[in-house]
Amino acid sequence: MPMSTDLYEILGVSKSASQDEIRKAYLKLAHKYHPDKTGGDKEAEKKLKEINAAYDILKNPEKRKQYDQFGSTDGQPFSGFGQGFGGDFGESPFGDLFDMLFGQGGRQGARSANRPQPGHDLEYELSVTLEEVARGCKKTISFSRPETCGACGGSGAAKGSSPETCPQCRGAGEVRMAHGVFSMSQTCPRCRGAGRIITRPCQNCNGSGQVRTKRELSIDIPAGVDSGNRLRIAGEGEAGRMGGARGDLYIRIRVLRHDFFERMGLNLVCEAPITISQAALGATIRVPTINGMADLKIPAGAQTGTQLRLRGHGLPDMRGYRQGDQLVVIQVETPQKLSRRQRELLEEFESLSNNRTYPKCDQFKNKIKATGHA
Ligand SMILES: [Zn+2]
Ligand SMILES: [Zn+2]
Repeated sequence: MPMSTDLYEILGVSKSASQDEIRKAYLKLAHKYHPDKTGGDKEAEKKLKEINAAYDILKNPEKRKQYDQFGSTDGQPFSGFGQGFGGDFGESPFGDLFDMLFGQGGRQGARSANRPQPGHDLEYELSVTLEEVARGCKKTISFSRPETCGACGGSGAAKGSSPETCPQCRGAGEVRMAHGVFSMSQTCPRCRGAGRIITRPCQNCNGSGQVRTKRELSIDIPAGVDSGNRLRIAGEGEAGRMGGARGDLYIRIRVLRHDFFERMGLNLVCEAPITISQAALGATIRVPTINGMADLKIPAGAQTGTQLRLRGHGLPDMRGYRQGDQLVVIQVETPQKLSRRQRELLEEFESLSNNRTYPKCDQFKNKIKATGHA
């Protein structure tokens, strides 16, 4: 007796039957096939189990809904149902099947291949300049991603044909292979688990159901991003299959090296060399900032390593609450390749210097003496 795989058919009701109608149909059948009536007929016992199992799903509106939704894709996974029947089944044949179809995790097989599958996420590395980080920017990126093939609508089958149930696994995506006394489930080699095979592949996508398509996208990069940040652009990843949702696109930020600035959190740090006279006398020098050139006042007596701050010329934090500064680290440049005249002037300058001109040099000499190293 061929086993019906349609739960409604098993109970002899229509798909639109009310819960009450389903219940009545079940009770009638359960009565009819009850062992008391059939005298322990094996075939009737099998039938009763089938009825019980079908009712078990359809009496529960939630399970029924899942079955309806799932069955409506093409009902194919249920054709793999026959496989589970090795003859001696214990409890409900549908119990396991139900778990297999709707349960969490479990084995991979036809059900995953025929179900909506979300598209993969994509990652795109985007280089930005520090100036762009300071102000935020709009970038147009171009990339290619798999899209549902327009010629076959994603089925992979050529126009006028459609994927067929795999004859080897009868749509289950798995086959049972005998290993000595054991028999084990394996992914079907013919359809590689899909449960379906394409006899005439679509020319446009070579049967894959997807084609790589170029996509241009304009994206807003917020001010304050840093290398390694990932911006998520929802729904711009690869197309899903069987009506599955698109993946997301992740923009991985790479901040390019700047000619002058090192980034230290929100602050930008640069070095500025100055002459010994600028250092001694004080001066105003021009320095680059992320916002263009600016004046920087050097105080008299500035030393190498002195840090001067240009407020607000750093980077904003991403939420826009704070703004960093620019830190300028002074490097006093010792003059080289002196002319005769320059040498004379410096020698004269030196002869006029004392411990107040060079307090550090003086302290150093004194310390040597005091500690007995002289
Ligand atoms: Zn195609
Ligand atoms: Zn197969």
